[in-house]
Amino acid sequence: MENVGLSIHCHHRALVEYCFNYRGRAEFIKRNKPPSEREIRLRLFKILPAEAIAELPTELIEAGKVWDEAYKVWDDAYELRNEVYEIRDEATRITGDQVDTTLDRAVKILDQANKTWNDTDRKTWHDKWCGCKYWKKGEIDFSEPVSTG
Ligand SMILES: [Zn+2]
Repeated sequence: MENVGLSIHCHHRALVEYCFNYRGRAEFIKRNKPPSEREIRLRLFKILPAEAIAELPTELIEAGKVWDEAYKVWDDAYELRNEVYEIRDEATRITGDQVDTTLDRAVKILDQANKTWNDTDRKTWHDKWCGCKYWKKGEIDFSEPVSTG
């Protein structure tokens, strides 16, 4: 599984979100989330395969692409800062503005795309690509008993 990309059940109140660091988020869940929630969270949280992304609403697919670009800009900027210590201050100033602008735009576009995705289509998509019993009324229901299989 990829470490970066559109993901399912990254946080319990959102179905599809962009994840910059799957392993990092999984570690965070293991260390910081209530013990009773960890197994369900870790089981449901996944970076989406291309086939699942292809069946998302167009707006979400486009938002994912904007996030991919934003991540690339961020990643390039991060590498640049590490490699070019002498011009770090200048590189941070130049790329920092670009990163902020691109990320702001990406956040807004994904939020908007999630808002316009209607409940019926969202449920159909969820049932096909996840199918878990924990996703109810737009969030993970941790009161469902954990079952194996
Ligand atoms: Zn689910």
